[in-house]
Order: sequence, then C-alpha cells, then structure tokens
Amino acid sequence: MTDPVHDRYWSRNGPVTDWKSDVGPGWHSLLDQLHAELSEIAPDYKTAQVKEKFGKLRVYIDLPPGVREMLGDAIWQVLGKYEDMSGHTCEDCGQPGEIRTSRSWLRTLCDACEAQRHVISSLGGE
Ligand SMILES: [Zn+2]
Repeated sequence: MTDPVHDRYWSRNGPVTDWKSDVGPGWHSLLDQLHAELSEIAPDYKTAQVKEKFGKLRVYIDLPPGVREMLGDAIWQVLGKYEDMSGHTCEDCGQPGEIRTSRSWLRTLCDACEAQRHVISSLGGE
C-alpha cells in the first residue's frame, strides 16, 4: 500500500548534511559534525527533517526498526547536544552568538549579524 503523503515526507532522507539549505550557513559546520557523530553510532540513520525552531537547530532522524530502541538515549543525547550548541552559534556566520527575539520569532545570532539585521529592518527590509 502506498501513502503519497508519507512517500513525499520521506523522499528527502539522506544524511543531515543534505539539508544544509534548510538552515543558515552559520550552522552548516554543526551539521557536518553531527553527521560524523551520528554515522559512528547509527550508520543507517536517515534524516526526516532539519529546521530552525525557537532559534535553535532541530534535527529529526529516522532509524531502522530495532535500532531506535537500542540506541535511543545515545541518539537523543547527540541531537540535544547540537541543539544546545546551535543556541550559542550564529546561524548566519557561525561566530559565537545568542538567542535574540525579534517581533514574533527567535534567532541565534552574533552581535554583528544582529546589528546588521537592525540596519536592514530599519531600511524597511525583512
Ligand atoms: Zn553572525
């Protein structure tokens, strides 16, 4: 039985490094490091989704049957560690940053990128 929605959802399921376009360039090296760690503990992992949520990097992965039960804790620890790291890494340039609030959304940015964003929004951009 084929479920088209399910198929579309899982159509992009390579390593997390295939998902760089879904987050800012400052987090690309985090995805490289995350992929290296995940490959060591779960070489067969697939990526379900990579996105920015509440200013932090969120990664959802899929594991082969049985592996999730076996490696669950180790996997969540790794994912949690990178989520924490992203909260201190500028999503735009990769420099040390912190979570900033802007109107309705949160982003992790360094001082320079935050200042840049204010310049852009005062010019009517964004
Ligand atoms: Zn920056």
